[in-house]
Amino acid sequence: MTEAVPHYRVAVIGTGFAGIGMAVRLRQAGLKDFVILERADGIGGTWRDNSYPGAACDVPSHLYSFSFALNPNWSRTFSPQPEIWDYMKRVAGEHGVDRHVRYNSDVRAAHWEPGNNRWRIETTDGTVTAQFLVSGAGPLADPTYPDIKGLDTFEGRLFHSAEWDHDHDLSGRRVAVIGTGASAIQFVPKIQPKVGRLTLFQRTAPWVMFRHDRDITKAESWLYRNVPGAQQIARKSIYWGRESYIFGFAKNPRLLGIVERLGRANINRSVKDPALRAKLTPSFRAGCKRILMSNDYYPALARPNVDVVTDGIVEVRPNSVVTRDSSGKETEHEVDTIILGTGFQVTDPPIAHRLYNSEGRSLAQHWGSNVQAFRGTTVNGFPNAFVLAGPNTGLGHTSQVFMIEAQIRYTMEALKYACRNRVDRLEPRPEAQRAYNRMIDKSMQGTVWVTGGCDSWYLNEEGRNTTLWPTFTWNYALRTRWFDPHNYDLRRVPRGGGKRKNAVPA
Ligand SMILES: Cc1cc2nc3c(=O)[nH]c(=O)nc-3n(C[C@H](O)[C@H](O)[C@H](O)COP(=O)(O)OP(=O)(O)OC[C@H]3O[C@@H](n4cnc5c(N)ncnc54)[C@H](O)[C@@H]3O)c2cc1C
Repeated sequence: MTEAVPHYRVAVIGTGFAGIGMAVRLRQAGLKDFVILERADGIGGTWRDNSYPGAACDVPSHLYSFSFALNPNWSRTFSPQPEIWDYMKRVAGEHGVDRHVRYNSDVRAAHWEPGNNRWRIETTDGTVTAQFLVSGAGPLADPTYPDIKGLDTFEGRLFHSAEWDHDHDLSGRRVAVIGTGASAIQFVPKIQPKVGRLTLFQRTAPWVMFRHDRDITKAESWLYRNVPGAQQIARKSIYWGRESYIFGFAKNPRLLGIVERLGRANINRSVKDPALRAKLTPSFRAGCKRILMSNDYYPALARPNVDVVTDGIVEVRPNSVVTRDSSGKETEHEVDTIILGTGFQVTDPPIAHRLYNSEGRSLAQHWGSNVQAFRGTTVNGFPNAFVLAGPNTGLGHTSQVFMIEAQIRYTMEALKYACRNRVDRLEPRPEAQRAYNRMIDKSMQGTVWVTGGCDSWYLNEEGRNTTLWPTFTWNYALRTRWFDPHNYDLRRVPRGGGKRKNAVPA
């Protein structure tokens, strides 16, 4: 006898901020008929996986957290990874989320079945079906491995910062770090005092600002616990402070000159060697790539056991990394450990290769290089699917959790509408999606993200910014405040279709 395939009203992929937040809102709305499919054996997404030394948020914790679960007990203004991970586990536990999770369930393929108006989802732990599919598979969940000749021939220890090998003792080692992004600038200062020699391979120098990081005092925590609204005020002031960055990034990039002066002062304060200063000074406008924050990155690079190499890597050999300078001269750098700080698969998200429409085409094939959605969340051709942290919802200036929560609100409004109006299939109209993306492209014009003179992971092959939201985040929150049925093709349940169970209360 074949086993029955479990059916749910909603299937959610992932247990990062997106998956947990979605699950909390579903439960608060009284809908318990849902499952969360998580490929790992625990919850936490980004904050479970990125346990490298020094991992911490770079948006203050009062803002980088759920609006419905403020935490008066953050230890620092920018909390470290273990604390953020603990926070997520606690929120999930308190809201009864964890009992919905199926761990070790890697979603391999999800097919839309038009005849049944549902998704058939194949995982490594069996198959389920669901009327609605919400992907919270993460914008930065899958590490990128650089395409360097000979990388697989390296005989020492090699790992990505998102898969840190805590058993590998770095004491006295000759370590190569490839990449100078947000993760590298956090772990380099932590490992530098320990290693014998650290060679940092830098393709592009990032802008790195001073970070106003400090302990949160007992008095502040007391205030947040006992004075109603105190933490909201702290959160709101951080929010509006961060929103003001948009004046520089998107409205008048000339304002970024002030930021660049601060960035140069940050280099000059810690680095005395003019040649090293020159290597570390970025050649593009601040903000074109994510602005990073650290107080110990430059001091670490100025230490005698560190070399910053800006020549391109041509090859990795069993015990070395080989670079070539502009005159064609090759240099072999002997190392016994390589740490990849080479980022994540952002512009070609792996989950898009696993969602299939009724014609059997994957979302990735449907998109090609032009990744786009309606309101960053729904995609024409892929009914009843919602993509959290989807196209053009990324940020360069403030908390991603704010955007994720806005998307969750929109998704909940859509589900409630579907329930109230007996809709069993919804899909954004192509013309609505086109108009929305025209608006995005227009708003993007003139922003530092497309004019700043850098080659960033925000841009696709054609130079279109498919990742970032181009303006203030309150603007996005307003656009996703209510579900807009006139922008959707809706299929209603035929009369006599029967009462549906587990309705989402209006
Ligand atoms: C080191 C680091 C630091 C960051 N710091 C900040 C910061 O300070 N501020 C900020 O705003 N943003 C930051 N970000 C961005 C961060 O990704 C988002 O803020 C947010 O955590 C994304 O949450 P998410 O739930 O969408 O994705 P994730 O947290 O990535 O969660 C995705 C989940 O989906 C699961 N999953 C993926 N694919 C599948 C599949 N096929 N089947 C089943 N499960 C699957 C994964 O295992 C994971 O648990 C940081 C990112 C990184 C990597």
